[in-house]
Amino acid sequence: MSSLASVYRNTFKGPDGQEDMPYLLTPGPLTTSRSVKHAMLADWGSRDVEFRSVIAEIRSDIKDIAGAGDQYECVLMQGSGTFAIEAALASFAPRGRTPKSLIVMNGAYGQRAAKILDHIGNRAYETINKGDSAAPTAAEVRRALEANRKIEFVFVVHCETTSGIINPIDEVVAVCKAMGKVVMVDAMSSFGAVPLDMGTSGMDIMVSSSNKCIEGVPGFSYVVVKSDLLKASAGNSHSVVLDLFDQWQAMEANGQFRFTPPTHVLVAFHQALKEFKAEGGVAARGRRYQANKDVLVDGMRRMGFETLLEDDVSGPIIQTFLTPGDAKFDFDRFYDALRAHGYAIYPGKLTKRPSFRIGTIGKLDHTVMRGLLRAVRDVLREMGVRDVKPAED
Ligand SMILES: *Cc1c(COP(=O)(O)O)cnc(C)c1O
Repeated sequence: MSSLASVYRNTFKGPDGQEDMPYLLTPGPLTTSRSVKHAMLADWGSRDVEFRSVIAEIRSDIKDIAGAGDQYECVLMQGSGTFAIEAALASFAPRGRTPKSLIVMNGAYGQRAAKILDHIGNRAYETINKGDSAAPTAAEVRRALEANRKIEFVFVVHCETTSGIINPIDEVVAVCKAMGKVVMVDAMSSFGAVPLDMGTSGMDIMVSSSNKCIEGVPGFSYVVVKSDLLKASAGNSHSVVLDLFDQWQAMEANGQFRFTPPTHVLVAFHQALKEFKAEGGVAARGRRYQANKDVLVDGMRRMGFETLLEDDVSGPIIQTFLTPGDAKFDFDRFYDALRAHGYAIYPGKLTKRPSFRIGTIGKLDHTVMRGLLRAVRDVLREMGVRDVKPAED
């Protein structure tokens, strides 16, 4: 690994607040604006009236962005995104030894939901498993629900960050709601950049976190859920700290978290929301990320790289490239050298083909992507890699 000195040596002048650290081209934590980082230079009291109003505004803004009206609640939870996923699964996945849940998988995050149910115990489930580069279809979900009429609850990921694929969430939710099921969507990596309208679609539960497309720093996650479901979930959780119903009751009663909140993270997120709105909300953020993707994918293809996914399903969040077959290409060296140039990319997570990923979210724009493309060209030259065609399967 390169020493920290070589990272800090980077003199790349970015557009905003990342002058002395590499850009994070990952699915989170992400590069954030200077003003978001600056918001953390104050120590807020968790019980103070100003801080409680920060919490209230965050909860209400998240609902607005989700298209969730009066019949929904927003509950904040300490911890990374998986904490809220586990909290929500514990509250809403039905108990029992015969499967009443369907977990739709096409990558690591669907698998993680199943693992969580295994750990909680007594929450049997069925799966649809599409591997790690194909999208599930609404027809497949319908067939699974028709085959087992006992299923009441469906879990599906919006952007499966393993590959970056965008799943057909509107169609899947429509099938589930037409058949009277409760549907939970892991919208972790898409929320705020890919449109989602809970009220119109009838989506029951949506989960995301502070350090993805709203461009805050890591430390808390959130669940938007229909009020009647939440009220009916009292006593369902196996956990004290992850008990979503208890957390919600405390927030409703006094506007506070039950246990120490990540105050700095919440205040930074509050600032990130202001910047999100000033930029123009979901549409504008989605456009900026799409431009990042277009510049990146186009430039990488010009060099000869191949993407895992077709452009119509790959989404604006993170791009998966197949690793060059050339023996001179060494991913660790490639990674370290790019990092020394000021760009931190991300390893691949596919089970079958060697790959790496480049995130296109965070406080970055197409000029950062162009800088990255120059760095990729330089690093390939340094490594003596002339042909980046992927190895055969
Ligand atoms: C980031 C992410 C999560 C949560 O991961 P954490 O490491 O717990 O923040 C869950 N699902 C998806 C699709 C994600 O991209």
